[in-house]
Amino acid sequence: MTDDYPFHEPFGPEYVRPRSADCPNCPCHTQGVCAEFQWLRADRPTYSDGTPYEKPCPCEQAAAEPVARTVAIELDGILRMIAAKYHRTGLLAGHMLTERVFRAESTSLDECPVPVPMGLFRPKEDTDPRLVVIDSAGEKWVMSFTAQHNLQPYRITGWYAGEADCPTDRKATGRNGGDPS
Ligand SMILES: [Zn+2]
Ligand SMILES: [Zn+2]
Repeated sequence: MTDDYPFHEPFGPEYVRPRSADCPNCPCHTQGVCAEFQWLRADRPTYSDGTPYEKPCPCEQAAAEPVARTVAIELDGILRMIAAKYHRTGLLAGHMLTERVFRAESTSLDECPVPVPMGLFRPKEDTDPRLVVIDSAGEKWVMSFTAQHNLQPYRITGWYAGEADCPTDRKATGRNGGDPS
């Protein structure tokens, strides 16, 4: 940097960062903050006199609601449209969770007593394309076959049988197989 200039270049990039555009949907944030869900990292908005802006951000509030979507998933050769919720913020931010329609087994091959949801994640460059599914908004997701029930890890093995009528009412009678008919 040289100080030889007769006057400062007021809008030079070294002095003033370009101001980002305001969000069109809220009075309190820039477009970048709302587009990338960075409210927690953003400066607390203030009124022009410097008092803190107290009202909740409508963009942040809207994003807290999971978005309902459907996703086409094929397992065991059966393709089904499954309802899912896309979480834009919170613990599950960036993930989608389906409804509970999957059968799962523990490492000791015990069947999970209840149907489990499937977690869906954003594909990476090296994601196996066979694991990629597409949702109703045209977005790509990667199937994850790990699940949990009562803190026990399970692995999704297929569709839960009889998910339509009585998903949880069947008491585990013959858990080692040997179904008495
Ligand atoms: Zn906004
Ligand atoms: Zn805002």
